[in-house]
Formats: sequence, C-alpha cells, structure tokens
Amino acid sequence: MATFAADPSVPRTPADKITAALVDPGFGRYFVDHMARAVWTPEAGWHDHALVATGPIPMHPGLAALQYGQEIFEGLKAFRHADGSVWLFRPEMNAARFARSAERMQMPPLPISDFLDSVTRLVELNLDWVPSAPDQSLYLRPFMFGSETLIGVRASNEYTYVCLGMPVMPFYPDPLKLWVSPHYARSMVGGTGDAKCGGNYGASMIAENEAHAQGCGQVLWLDSATRSWVEESGTMNFLVVTADGELVTPALNGQILAGITRDSLLTIAAAHGLRAVERPLGFAELCAGIESGVITEALACGTAAVVSPVIGIKTPDLELVVGDGTPGTKTRELRAHLTGIQFGTEPDLHGWLHRVG
Ligand SMILES: *Cc1c(COP(=O)(O)O)cnc(C)c1O
Repeated sequence: MATFAADPSVPRTPADKITAALVDPGFGRYFVDHMARAVWTPEAGWHDHALVATGPIPMHPGLAALQYGQEIFEGLKAFRHADGSVWLFRPEMNAARFARSAERMQMPPLPISDFLDSVTRLVELNLDWVPSAPDQSLYLRPFMFGSETLIGVRASNEYTYVCLGMPVMPFYPDPLKLWVSPHYARSMVGGTGDAKCGGNYGASMIAENEAHAQGCGQVLWLDSATRSWVEESGTMNFLVVTADGELVTPALNGQILAGITRDSLLTIAAAHGLRAVERPLGFAELCAGIESGVITEALACGTAAVVSPVIGIKTPDLELVVGDGTPGTKTRELRAHLTGIQFGTEPDLHGWLHRVG
C-alpha cells in the first residue's frame, strides 16, 4: 500500500484563524491546509502519493477532463465526538463506490487502501479543522480526473486524484418540495446514473433551475424511458414511509446512485418499527398513495443533507402535499438516529465509525 506522506513545508493555519473560520464555515468557504494528491500513468501506475498544500494545480487547457468530462467524485464526512475524538463514517463504502465509478468511466481505480489512507491522513494532519459545534463536520471531497493533454477522443492516459477537506456548517434541511420535470432526465438505461461523475450533475442543472423557478428545492427524477418510475432526487436518494410501517425506496436499477445514507437508513429502519423495502416505485402509485394517505411521509437523503423531509411533489399539472405538509415523525426519528450514530451519542451497532484522531 502506498502512503500519502505529508510535505513538511505546507504552511499551517494559526489556531486563532481556524477558530475564526469555524464560527461560520459555510460549505466550501475554507479548506484545510493539506490536500491529498496522487497521479496515474500507464508506466508507473498510481504514484506520487502526497499530502501537499491546498492550492491550484497547474494544467494545460487541453486537459482531458475539461474536453471530454472524465471526472468522478465522492463525498464523506468526519465527525468530532463530545470527548474530542474524530471519526469517519463508512469510508470503505465511499472507497468501493469510487472504484466502481472509475470502472464505468474507464479510469484506473484507486486502490481501496490508497483511498482510505488519503482520507485518514488528511484528517489526522488537520484535526484542528474538525469543528466541535453541534452538527458541524469536516467534509471530504475525493475526486479524480483525466489529466492528460488530449484533444483526440479516447480515454485519458494520465489521471490525477485529489482529496480536499473543508469544515461545513450544520445543514438544517428546509422541508423540500420536489419538482417532476416534464422534459429532462438524469440517467438512462446503459448510462452513468449509478456512477458518481461530474457529468451527471452538469446535465441536471437545467432541471434544477426549472425546479427553483417552480418554487421547489430539488428535482424528483423519473426513469427516462417511460417516465413512470421514481428514481431519486438528484443529489439525494428518495424514500417514503407507508401507513402500514414500510420504509420504501426504489430498488437500485443501474440508473440510481447507490447512496451510503440510503443504505444506512434501510439498515436502521427496523429500530423504528419500519420494514425496509427496496422495489420499483411507480410515480402513479406515489401520487395515489400521497392522496389516499397510504404514504404518510417522504424523505430524501445524502451525506451533505443527511435527511431532508419532502413535504410536496409538483408537476406541471398537479401539486400534492405529503401528510400534513410538515416533516414526518419517522423522518425526524431516522435523522436523529443517524446523526446520533455519527456524533457518538447513539450506539454504533454496525461498526460504521472509524477513529481517526
Ligand atoms: C452522492 C449522491 C447521492 C447520495 O449518496 P450518499 O452516499 O448518501 O452521500 C445520491 N444521489 C446522487 C446522484 C449522488 O451523487
């Protein structure tokens, strides 16, 4: 296993500056002192593993990723517990998904052990940057891109891996209304919907902006072929709670991103008297269920937002209110339970936390 060794010349932010930054860190306003970096070439494989100063990367404008979009990313968090210790949440799941995304985009997978070493050492070296205020955390953004200068169309022959770290604010999720676009799709059969790649996001901005213009916070994506099956909510997976005690989410079908928060909620559902069910969820069934009261709650989940209550669904011809239009009881319970595990106030029965410092 290669180790990410720290460049000793990286300038360190003074403690008082970090304290000042953590008063209002936003989401990506401040970066920690180091970033992890490694490079892949056909001759040397992955090499040059290092923790260097966070800052610009020199690049030729003909960079493969800029021309043809070979780019993948991840998002995970480190949490500080009341005793001062710092923990990563399920980083091996991110490492495995990063490798699957790489395969789909014909990029060389970063070994799982390299991924874990990069995030662990990045946090270890920047422990002072891990906030202790309630609900704040250190967000890690590992990503990889084709870094050859390349105008002819083919897979890049050089790749650069980078991991950035940044303190992030508590994300108080406003209850969301979701917009069902009549025009656009996020993914398709045979496409890249289950890869975490930047291109999926580039293609979805138009529908996101349509949602905002409709007074909705996010998009609810349907399958592109028939527009009759619910898939996910763009940056988050989608779940519903039923009156007979099920937590239902669309089954992974190759077009839905396999969220780690989704998996975690399905795992803890039983502790809340809910049966976890993964199956195709029809859009007509969703609408009918909301109207009849068979579906009592809807929620969206992902690392950044954790759990967002979904209180409404809007299409060009109808607007539905979920439950009584306020965050549901089970939704609030699931969020409290998951964040409790992450911050060390609920028992970690599944070995999801990995101590870093
Ligand atoms: C990252 C992401 C999610 C959420 O995944 P988590 O592992 O829970 O953070 C859901 N949908 C899409 C499209 C994503 O990119």
